[in-house]
Amino acid sequence: MHDIIHLLPDNVANQIAAGEVIQRPASVLKELVENAIDAEALSIQIFLKDAGRTLIQVVDNGKGMSDTDARLAFERHATSKIKEAADLFALHTMGFRGEALASIAAVAQVEVHTRRESDELGTLIAISGSQLDLQEAVNCPKGTAFFVKNLFFNVPARRKFLKSNDTELRQLIVEFTRIALVYPQLHFTLQHNETELLNLAPTNHRQRIGQLFPSRNNAMQRQLVPIETHSSMVSISGYVGAPETAVRNANQFFFVNGRYMRHPYFHKAVMQAYEGLVSNQLTPPYFIYFEIDPASIDVNIHPTKTEIKFEQEPAIWSILLATVKESLSKSHAIPSIEFDQEGAIDIPTMHALKNMPQSQPKVNLNPAYNPFDNYSERSSNYQRPPMNWESLYHDFEKSKDQSALEHPTLPTMEHTSQELLDEEREGKNYLLYKNRFILAGGKSGLMFIDRQRAHVRILFEQWMRQLRERRGLSQQLLFPEMITLNVADALLLETVLPELHDVGFEVAAFGKNTFVVNGVPAGFENKPAIPMIELLVDTVKQNKGKMKEALNESIALTLAKAAAVDNDRTMTQDEMSQLLGQLFTCENPNITPEGKQIVVLLTNEEIEKKF
Ligand code: ADP
Ligand code: MG
Repeated sequence: MHDIIHLLPDNVANQIAAGEVIQRPASVLKELVENAIDAEALSIQIFLKDAGRTLIQVVDNGKGMSDTDARLAFERHATSKIKEAADLFALHTMGFRGEALASIAAVAQVEVHTRRESDELGTLIAISGSQLDLQEAVNCPKGTAFFVKNLFFNVPARRKFLKSNDTELRQLIVEFTRIALVYPQLHFTLQHNETELLNLAPTNHRQRIGQLFPSRNNAMQRQLVPIETHSSMVSISGYVGAPETAVRNANQFFFVNGRYMRHPYFHKAVMQAYEGLVSNQLTPPYFIYFEIDPASIDVNIHPTKTEIKFEQEPAIWSILLATVKESLSKSHAIPSIEFDQEGAIDIPTMHALKNMPQSQPKVNLNPAYNPFDNYSERSSNYQRPPMNWESLYHDFEKSKDQSALEHPTLPTMEHTSQELLDEEREGKNYLLYKNRFILAGGKSGLMFIDRQRAHVRILFEQWMRQLRERRGLSQQLLFPEMITLNVADALLLETVLPELHDVGFEVAAFGKNTFVVNGVPAGFENKPAIPMIELLVDTVKQNKGKMKEALNESIALTLAKAAAVDNDRTMTQDEMSQLLGQLFTCENPNITPEGKQIVVLLTNEEIEKKF
């Protein structure tokens, strides 16, 4: 008798592995989009045909691959993300197992076009059923485009297993939504059979939720209560719906370290926080993000599995319950809810938008007032309403608000154009009190808004966005300025030049601890540049050694404080209205980044008691 064991050829092994990772079009989409995010793309475009059966195309503007890497990427266990087993416990990328591409290429016809910024020519690779068909140099834009065609073309049993197009498309959108909710700063588009279903401009978390789950007048989005807690064990942030937003089938999402998860046990904690606040059949929406040391959760889980084991579940359970409870108990005093129901800014209706010029909306009245807003630019690539959304999310809020679905509202525009404001503002009055507080009436009381703190909050969030998106607008200085620092400060400044560049400072080393400032962030051209740089160097010094995000936060705060309005000037109705409109679309309108109160609500009862 001779030996009977032999090794499976690669293509067979890959196909078997693919059975685990790639179950349906949605799994392909998830892997490709996660790879694009890991490649630091800022914009990700998705094109689908026949619910992904015929084509799943993902185009990113990330860092691309060299020709060798592009070929290697399709090998099993080929990854750029970990080198040794220990790395598994310190993982911050979405993928790491290095098996997605190999699996996809085993069960589909795959083409990739990829180019790194530094390469003149890109690479084209075609692989089907694990066989390399073609590799050649091509002209292509920076980034990577994956075309996955005829999924399961060589696995008829799998192909038969796929559900109807409606079901598969729904699953694709579900998978997409779970990623888009984590990366509001990225631009996503999604097309199905030539129809654009989604076009999500970069924004903040609250508005991304609104983009993905439109409701009438953005009622749901407005009534989201921010939650936040940080402890050595875990950080929890996100939004929970005010009790009034509870519906039969609410959208509920948990994420851990940027990854969607199901967690029935933690779900109970959230539900318990609502005890007595919502009736039995209804549940509130929530979007809750956990950040935790990757070593304390089980990372080596199956890639398609969404249930995650935490080391300290009971403790986190209690923290979660307390956080949600506390935020809800404060929420009746949450002014953004009050404000939006009867306040000055209505989100523009579809009708109003149609009549709006599609080109660049007018610039603000007073440039010093809102120096580097770049939303207007974004709102010009304004999106069509998410078509087919009704059928995809038909149960969302159905019982509650049928008409919202018949007249889907558009994703919020943070920034209404001046014409719109004029239309909407009629009959609404604000009072500027002691040049410091804006008084605005709401449904259940009178709000006092500290104008300067409000402005700091707005600017802070804008700067943060620019830092994350690396897209600050710069204004060239007519007369470049020189600054000489001591050695230590010069070294420090050197290290943060890229961050400063990201917000619009054009600063270059000029030899011997001297720097030349050629440009400043748009809106700062009238402020002296040198003190500004000195202030930033100080900020960096105080925050030395902090992680990038923390450093970004302190840079953003410094700039926001430097640019915020002074209280020495009066404000027009338009300006107040605009300020409040922007404030209440902020991620956290209630407190400044330093934790100071921005809005105080004097409730109707409190006022009446006084009489
Ligand atoms: P993993 O993501 O687990 O590392 P994959 O099979 O998904 O494994 O990808 C293999 C490798 O291919 C990645 O580690 C990465 O280096 C490279 N890669 C995949 N997609 C992209 C992309 N869109 N842009 C740049 N590199 C990519
Ligand atoms: Mg991957």
